[in-house]
Amino acid sequence: MEREVRVRFAPSPTGPLHIGGVRTALYNYLFAKKMGGKMLLRIEDTDQNRFVPGAEQYIFESLEWCGIKLDESPVHGGPHAPYRQSERKPMYMDYAQKLVQDGHAYYAFDTAEELDAMRERLKAAKVATPQYNSITRNTMRNSLTLPEDDVKKLLESGTPYVIRLKVPRKEEIRLKDLIRGWVLVHSSSIDDKVLMKSDGMPTYHLANIVDDHLMGITHVIRGEEWLPSAPLHVLLYRYLGWESTMPEFAHLPLLLKPDGNGKLSKRDGDKLGFPVFPLQWSDPFTGEKSSGYRESGYLPEAFINFLAFLGWNPGTQQELFTMDELAEAFSIERIGKSGTRFDINKARWYNEQYLRAKPDTELAQYLLQALAEHNISCSEEKAVKISGVMKERVTFPQDFWREASYFFLTPEQYDEKVAGKKWTAAAVAVFEDFKNQLETISDYTADNIKQLLLTILEQKGMKIGQVMQALRLAITGLEAGPDLMAIIEIIGKDETKHRIEAATTKLQSFVS
Ligand code: GLU
Repeated sequence: MEREVRVRFAPSPTGPLHIGGVRTALYNYLFAKKMGGKMLLRIEDTDQNRFVPGAEQYIFESLEWCGIKLDESPVHGGPHAPYRQSERKPMYMDYAQKLVQDGHAYYAFDTAEELDAMRERLKAAKVATPQYNSITRNTMRNSLTLPEDDVKKLLESGTPYVIRLKVPRKEEIRLKDLIRGWVLVHSSSIDDKVLMKSDGMPTYHLANIVDDHLMGITHVIRGEEWLPSAPLHVLLYRYLGWESTMPEFAHLPLLLKPDGNGKLSKRDGDKLGFPVFPLQWSDPFTGEKSSGYRESGYLPEAFINFLAFLGWNPGTQQELFTMDELAEAFSIERIGKSGTRFDINKARWYNEQYLRAKPDTELAQYLLQALAEHNISCSEEKAVKISGVMKERVTFPQDFWREASYFFLTPEQYDEKVAGKKWTAAAVAVFEDFKNQLETISDYTADNIKQLLLTILEQKGMKIGQVMQALRLAITGLEAGPDLMAIIEIIGKDETKHRIEAATTKLQSFVS
């Protein structure tokens, strides 16, 4: 019988979740959804030295914002609770000891000084990467080199020790990665990794394998940086007698910096001009703030659509996908092997698409909120109209105010470049007539306003192109924007008059 698909996202709470981590979580989620399986979140907090307050909460909040729903987690509970490794501490030692009994691991009593001395010795002998391994272990103080009685005594007397994996000297370790195919690694390149630390905590490697097994994980989908650890994990599955239910592996390609040079890292922070974290993060130790996609105005549906495409593609032209559609289309086979360059313009594009697809009534709420913050009153109807006019031109919700404040405020400054070129005596004469005849329009609509302007232009033997930019300048102060007649309609007759008068006064020196 096929096993139910079970995947996990297993972050360490050592800081804010990086965008690459969110992508890993997303791919796990999409795969589980596609396969009708389950996804769990496990907090890998065995390294107490790297604990960062708030990081775990940040992980939950980020996943929730993205719409990644968990079946099991420290918060949701589940049949394999607890889901925090620090709370599972007592169960790992048994597995480590079993490995020792079966001859696949050993106690090592070396002190920090002894380990340093070993490294110095090897360096002096020109060994490129000094390691505790199948060769060097023979010269160290461990249960393989010490007499059994001594080991017993050391253990009984409470001498600090670690448990190391006994990696075979000459063995080819193979593993099949669902993205990269067969990966072959020679065991001589792997060191005798510590499985249990002297504080009784397991290391990542042991805890990860024990938990994936106990939690029935069928597929391990994680970042490429874990690929070098995978052969070691294969050995652990084998030595623990779990090889037949070993999960399948899929190592995701790296996210690269926009120029393709190197991995996009947490440290890039805002240096590249865009966020690398889903939510804003304030470092609890330094107070340093890093921006987040949420606070920058990205919609979660745009963010996940963008993320899904960073390394995966559906093999069709379709670019816009809801979460359900992504899950439907998702397959591990369509994840690329090579690193994906990060392109923030694509994220912006997605945001624009998702904003535009929203009804004007919903978009109006963004504007109304900003207006309230600026103590400007505005009817819902007017806000809806403005949103409709602006939606093709905005990237973020905050742009409705940022880019459309001229609907509410008479310009105080005018684009001087446009003024220099377009503020002509002929245009000013047209505006004078236009302003005086606005009263004649009984139904103040964009169409009727345009008609009036055209009539005046015709009388003067002029073309609309000769005045449009100057009129836009008078009304908005800017060179470009949405349909000008719609703007004039929305600001109303009195304000239109007022703005033409104000511009005529202020731009006198530009008349050419
Ligand atoms: N705790 C590891 C991390 O922080 C998990 C790696 C894995 O998925 O095996 O990414």
